[in-house]
Amino acid sequence: MIEMDCTCVQKHHCIPTEVIEVSEHAVEKTAEILKDYHRIFMVADENTYEVAGKRVECLLKEAGILSHVLILPAPALPNAENVGKVLMEAGRDREVYDIQAWSLNPDYILAVGSGSINDTCRMVSYRLGIPYGVVGTAPSMDGYASVVAPLLNGRRKIVYNCTIARHIIIDLSINCAAPYPLLLSGVGDMLGKYVAILDWEISRDRNGEYYCEKIADMVLKATEQCVQAASGLEKRETDAIRATSEGLILSGECIAFCGSSRPASGTEHMIGQTWEVMDVEEGKVPNLHGIEVGEGTFTAIELFRALYAETEDQHLKTLIEKYLPAFDRLEELQRTIRLPFTVTDKQRYVEGILRGRTFRDRYTILQYLYDQGKLEAYADRVYDVVMQKYFYGTFKERFPDWKA
Ligand SMILES: [Zn+2]
Ligand SMILES: [Zn+2]
Repeated sequence: MIEMDCTCVQKHHCIPTEVIEVSEHAVEKTAEILKDYHRIFMVADENTYEVAGKRVECLLKEAGILSHVLILPAPALPNAENVGKVLMEAGRDREVYDIQAWSLNPDYILAVGSGSINDTCRMVSYRLGIPYGVVGTAPSMDGYASVVAPLLNGRRKIVYNCTIARHIIIDLSINCAAPYPLLLSGVGDMLGKYVAILDWEISRDRNGEYYCEKIADMVLKATEQCVQAASGLEKRETDAIRATSEGLILSGECIAFCGSSRPASGTEHMIGQTWEVMDVEEGKVPNLHGIEVGEGTFTAIELFRALYAETEDQHLKTLIEKYLPAFDRLEELQRTIRLPFTVTDKQRYVEGILRGRTFRDRYTILQYLYDQGKLEAYADRVYDVVMQKYFYGTFKERFPDWKA
């Protein structure tokens, strides 16, 4: 259990995670960390099995605590079909068939992978009432310590409330070898936190929404850490991978401390996730989460800058002003890391902003602009600015061989 006293109205934050291990050869400690369990069901996909699963399987077998293994075909999407497969394979038949007994459940589910496998296992763990943990294979998103599972259900993406991982094991030597698009996705997921916290501050002052300064500061610190590390990712510097991995975990922890994703998800996520959903609605495989969020972040930054230049609301101006230096740093960072874009068509881009406002029930600058009757005009205006300042090519151009 991780606990923290606080000065906010909650006074105390607490999450049931027991161990977070981020180290060079963390995988080797898996059996020791999970020694209190006896029937561990391990889930991987073909790729994550190769990079980490094989070794984990061997260690758990040696320790006599492995029940069985499921390897999903890659790429494994976080969808209803895979949740079904994990659920179907979770129970083992007893050696002697007994109509009086249920099938034998595992006492622990171990996800080996990043976003998709983790979200899939989190859902099954929550539904079956069995604890789960994750051996991460790439610092690609902040969901390791998340409490929800965004899953594809037919042509819809639904965010289900779930539970948090009991153990998070991040092996830096494995994360260092992760494909570069996944590393970029991890950074993209973090860049938007400045926007998310600014949205949260605005809602606190306009709507009296609950706000925790300690959590907000922790998220901003984690973001700063990731921004500083970002330029070292392409060369796979261990310190950069460590800083990014720790930043992403910390952001996830803050979501769990807060009990909602408010500290880590604002305008940038609502726009990015709307683009994701538009793909899902059209039956396409969605792009990497953090890549969409990165483009959403630059969009949100320009919406804030435009509002700052125009607004006569002095309080709002002061709030935005605090974040302008961070926005400048992100603009500069983009010149180095050149985060690719996924949406370049103007109509689709603008639709993401307009629909993004109601993506979830959360007050952001999108709602503010809508209430002022300015959202459409702003969406139209920022398109040109964003494409001119931040666009260095599409994801497909940069990574033509990438599959899901
Ligand atoms: Zn607090
Ligand atoms: Zn995210």
